[in-house]
This record gives sequence, C-alpha cells and structure tokens, in this order.
Amino acid sequence: MRRRAFDIIVVGAGPGGSCAAFAAAQEAVSVLLLEEHPEVGSPVVCAEGLSQSTIRDYLEIKPEWVSSSLSGAIIRGPDKEEFRIDYPEVGWVLERTKFDAALAKMAQDSGAVLKTGAKAIGLDDGRLKVLEEGRIETYQFKFLIGADGIGSKVGRWFGIDTRLKPSELEVCAEYLLEEIEIDNKSVYLIFGAKYAPGGYAWIFPKSEKSANVGLGITPTKTKMRARQFLDNWIGEDFPGAKIKRRVFGGVPAKPLKRFSGRNFFLVGDAARFTDPLSGAGIANAVKSGIIAGKNAVLRLKGKKDHFESAIRNKILKEIKFHERVRNIYVRLGDNELKDIFKIGKRIYAGKKVDDINTKILVREILLSSPGLLKIGFTLLFS
Ligand SMILES: Cc1cc2nc3c(=O)[nH]c(=O)nc-3n(C[C@H](O)[C@H](O)[C@H](O)COP(=O)(O)OP(=O)(O)OC[C@H]3O[C@@H](n4cnc5c(N)ncnc54)[C@H](O)[C@@H]3O)c2cc1C
Repeated sequence: MRRRAFDIIVVGAGPGGSCAAFAAAQEAVSVLLLEEHPEVGSPVVCAEGLSQSTIRDYLEIKPEWVSSSLSGAIIRGPDKEEFRIDYPEVGWVLERTKFDAALAKMAQDSGAVLKTGAKAIGLDDGRLKVLEEGRIETYQFKFLIGADGIGSKVGRWFGIDTRLKPSELEVCAEYLLEEIEIDNKSVYLIFGAKYAPGGYAWIFPKSEKSANVGLGITPTKTKMRARQFLDNWIGEDFPGAKIKRRVFGGVPAKPLKRFSGRNFFLVGDAARFTDPLSGAGIANAVKSGIIAGKNAVLRLKGKKDHFESAIRNKILKEIKFHERVRNIYVRLGDNELKDIFKIGKRIYAGKKVDDINTKILVREILLSSPGLLKIGFTLLFS
C-alpha cells in the first residue's frame, strides 16, 4: 500500500528542496520530496555558475558535477574595453542536470522518498494535494517545505504576499552556444546599456568552445525584451555560433518579507533568496535548504529552532546590503559605469585575488567618484 503520511514534505527537487530533504532525512524523520518534472535537473533554467566562496562551508562540489573550473574573471565595460582578474578559486560552471540529480540522490540515500512527475497543486483541509500519474492524491504532513522556485505557490497557500514589482526583478535570456572562441578559464561579466540595462551580461564557459551566454535586464529600464538584447549581442559578437539550448526566466531581486510559519518554511527562489546584484541563487538555495531541513526536525521534536535567525545571519544580511547597492546600480548611466570600470581596472587589472569583498569594493568606488558619493550615501546608509 502506498504511504500517505510523512513528517515532512518538500515541494520541488531543485538544489533547495533536495538539500532540505537530505538534511531532514538524516535525522530519521520520514520525508517526501516531490518534483513535478519527470526528471530531476531538467529543464535547466540557469547559467550554472557557482562561486567557491559562497558554497565552501555547505557542500563539497564533486568533479563529476562540474563542466568547467574557472580561474579568472574578464570585466568588459560599456566601451568594450576589458581587463582580466586572476582569481584562481573563483568557482565553477556546473552541469546542473548532474548536480541537481546528485543532490536528490543524496536525499534518497539518506532515506527521503523521491517522487518525480508529482506536482503539488494545493492544500485541502491541511493535506497536500498532488497531481501524479493523472490522478489527484492527498498526503498528510506535519511540516511543509516550499522549495518550488521563483513561481512558488506554496507561500501563497499559506497566505504570503508573493507579488513582485517589475523593478524588483531581473528578466533573463540565455543561450548555450557552441563553436565560439572564448577564454574558457574565465567568466565574462559585461556592463552597459547596449547589452543589459539595469543588469549585466555574462559568458560562463562550459567547455573549450561552448558557453552559457546570457543577460539579465531590469524591465523598467527599457521597452526592449531581454531576448532582443541577447540576439543583437550574439549577432554582433558570435555570428557563427550554434544555439544548443534557449533559456528564459526571471530572477527576483528582493527577498520575501515573510518566509516561514507554524508548520512551513520557504527556501531558495521560493523565498527569493537570490543575490540582488549577481542574480546567483544556487548557493543560497543549498544553504537555506540545509538550514530548513535541520530546523524543521527541531520543530517536529518540540525543540527550539533557529530557522529565522540562521537565515537572517547567513543569507539575508548580505542580500539586504546587495539590494541597496543594486538600487544605486540600476540608476547609473553608461558614463558612470565607465567611471566605475576605470576604478575597477585600477584596483584589479592583472592582480591575483583570492576574494572580492563587495563592501570594500563599493566603498572604494564611492570614494573614488564624487558624483556617486552623494547618491551612494543617501541610498546605502539610510
Ligand atoms: C537565466 C538564469 C540564469 C541563472 N544563472 C545562475 C547562475 O549562474 N548561478 C546561480 O547561482 N544562480 C543562477 N540563477 C538562479 C538559480 O537558477 C536559482 O536561484 C536556483 O535554481 C534556485 O534553486 P531552487 O532549488 O530554489 O529552485 P529551482 O532550481 O527553481 O527548483 C525548483 C524545483 O521545484 C519544482 N517545482 C515547482 N513547482 C512545483 C510543484 N508545484 N510541485 C512539484 N515540484 C515543483 C521545479 O520543477 C524545480 O525542479 C539563474 C536563473 C536564471 C533564470
């Protein structure tokens, strides 16, 4: 007979959900992990970049999850001028299909039950309704973890306001390009209104001649679509490239005000724990998933949990700071970006670094540019 009651149900088997299920199942409670797609890790909606410094304390990255290891960053300004930072431990470009599948397998190996092709569709008298194999089944749970990504419904089922203003979102377009000439050991970060107004463009090398090439824009900064910016750029810089995969999606730039309740936690993109500056969300999904899994078990056992405080200290502090920096960034025009490019070049060009601290970088930039100082102080320290 099929099991219909679990201590913890996790909705969504992305990095956030699988890590939550893994952390909870290790504590010998019963865990059900639901994934709406037939396979975990597919389709990929990501540039697959992961910086070493963000994940180091939480997860050991296995070589088989990695497409390429990077050792530098190339920064390109609005004038197309570039400089390279020698950054030996900058990070990796993952193979998300393998990475996500491996994390779900870790959860299963710890005892969690994984169901794919199983879509959570709502709550019914405290039970979770799940559409699987064409039928609606209901499951009892004591605790629910919403890890259902940017389009999360779990928060709404618990009465959380999940609306986002267009200014609080980056709209992204990305192609996996093959047969291109790049420095395949460096991540490229490209700035300027021509490429990505209110955001940036990227090249994340997957192999010697292939890369995730994409961009994110702030929709209130332009009437053009992200896809048009990408097509223009690719037509200009990579005219002979083959497009292997097309990805379109949004990245939230503002975390939810409330992301937990008596019997639920939200993690990863469902809680909008993406970095407002970089758009990166894999590391925070992993971190918040692990924190949620452990603390959900504490709650089940009637012990005091630390979910809110751990999330605030380990995730939200940095997000809030980056949110304020982004509020300045989206107001800048190309002239100011050119000034910042020059400052960055002076500080980093040709240098070997082992970490880039945003707080120090922002201070350097503000102090070096009188025009930015006033707006910077008002927004950053108010
Ligand atoms: C174009 C683009 C590029 C990006 N590039 C990067 C990058 O380079 N580096 C980085 O760190 N981040 C990047 N991100 C962000 C990153 O992809 C996310 O932050 C990350 O995947 C969040 O993980 P998650 O587990 O919270 O959610 P997801 O990875 O979105 O996983 C959610 C899972 O829940 C499943 N699901 C949803 N609803 C249900 C339901 N009702 N029932 C069952 N299952 C459900 C989905 O199928 C999915 O598998 C990018 C995002 C975009 C859009």
